Amino acid sequence: MGESIECDVAVVGAGPAGLAVALGLARRGVRTTLITGPERARDHRTTALMEGSVRFLASLDVWERLAPHTAPLRDLRIVDATHRLVRAPEVKFRASEICLDAFGYNIENEALRGELMDAALALPSLHVARASVTGHSADAGHLTLSLDDGAAVTARLAIAADGRNSRMREAAGIRMRSRAYPQVALTFTVRHTRPHEDISTEFHTETGPFTLVPLPGKRASIVCVVSERDAVRLLGLDPPALARELERRAFSLLGAFELEEGRGAFPLAAETAEHLVAPRLALVAEAAHVMPPIGAQGLNLGLRDAAAILNLAGDAVSLGEDPGSESLLSRYASDRRRDIDTRMAAVDVLNRSLLSDLVPVQSLRGLGLYLMDRVGPLRRGLMRLGAGLRAA
Ligand SMILES: Cc1cc2nc3c(=O)[nH]c(=O)nc-3n(C[C@H](O)[C@H](O)[C@H](O)COP(=O)(O)OP(=O)(O)OC[C@H]3O[C@@H](n4cnc5c(N)ncnc54)[C@H](O)[C@@H]3O)c2cc1C
Repeated sequence: MGESIECDVAVVGAGPAGLAVALGLARRGVRTTLITGPERARDHRTTALMEGSVRFLASLDVWERLAPHTAPLRDLRIVDATHRLVRAPEVKFRASEICLDAFGYNIENEALRGELMDAALALPSLHVARASVTGHSADAGHLTLSLDDGAAVTARLAIAADGRNSRMREAAGIRMRSRAYPQVALTFTVRHTRPHEDISTEFHTETGPFTLVPLPGKRASIVCVVSERDAVRLLGLDPPALARELERRAFSLLGAFELEEGRGAFPLAAETAEHLVAPRLALVAEAAHVMPPIGAQGLNLGLRDAAAILNLAGDAVSLGEDPGSESLLSRYASDRRRDIDTRMAAVDVLNRSLLSDLVPVQSLRGLGLYLMDRVGPLRRGLMRLGAGLRAA
């Protein structure tokens, strides 16, 4: 028989969403066990954490650790780089227009996860189990998780933050609604010769956005959304030729590029869980929704799930109530559904409008960007939404 662990809440998965929710619960005095899952391969991507996420992470007292690794995104620029008949005007948004220093901050995923994990390990009230969940069963009052080291964790609520291939979700029989796109997101980190001036630039092309996101110093991360064929061709280039090709796609805005080690290729897909909850189980972040990496929405949305379940479960435990009750879980599901569905729909519309060759669709996209540029309240409302804040 392995170890037997009892707690109020078990958090499954030590990605950024799982780490944040586990830290928040333990800090509120909720008896929490974080089950980390398997060792991960190095993640060379970066994440643009928008203002709403920064405030949430600051409320967990971890922003001070993260801030030195980040670069601010003070301006966001959208450039229509298509060769179509109808082209949209260039649009630039300034964070100062909505009284912010920056819309958000870009950080390398390794630094984000590493700092959150260090904060979790430094918190004596958080129990960290370095194992993976192999199965679970729920009864009226509890949920029991079996771990691959033979231990069992009994909790009143389990939070599945075990990522896009969530085992917890699958074991609960929750299906995903999925849509694949004929595109691949390639990711790179580059050093460049001209300063980025804290401006993130998104070039809209016929196959999807090509985005330059600042990192500290003269460095930037690139997310380049291309057709499957183009992805194979680009990944076949040697590093100097690839750097030149990326510089060409960036119109030499940041000067010459030198590629750093590590690149990624992510087929584009949109997936949403049919249900966000099951008995004594709540899904958060990519266990619940996967979106194309357009507009830096994915983890920001996931951290809003984390904040929502953390507040509901934290309040329940402090009032002596059941954090895994049916009413609490249905409140979580209804609180989160609208935000998830609207963000997924917005990213889908933007992506499809880029792929479509139809002139009316291009005209509408151009008109949308024109209105965003010219109509003050719409512009400011959208900027606030993009920064993960309420529109008004
Ligand atoms: C190219 C690209 C760029 C992106 N850029 C941005 C961006 O700028 N801004 C943004 O907000 N989002 C961005 N995203 C989305 C963001 O990367 C994801 O939303 C985020 O990484 C998901 O975090 P997570 O914690 O849900 O899952 P993960 O980081 O995948 O973590 C899941 C964890 O669960 C663990 N696990 C798995 N199975 C088990 C098990 N059986 N038992 C226990 N643990 C288990 C794993 O080991 C892992 O640690 C981007 C995505 C891509 C593809």
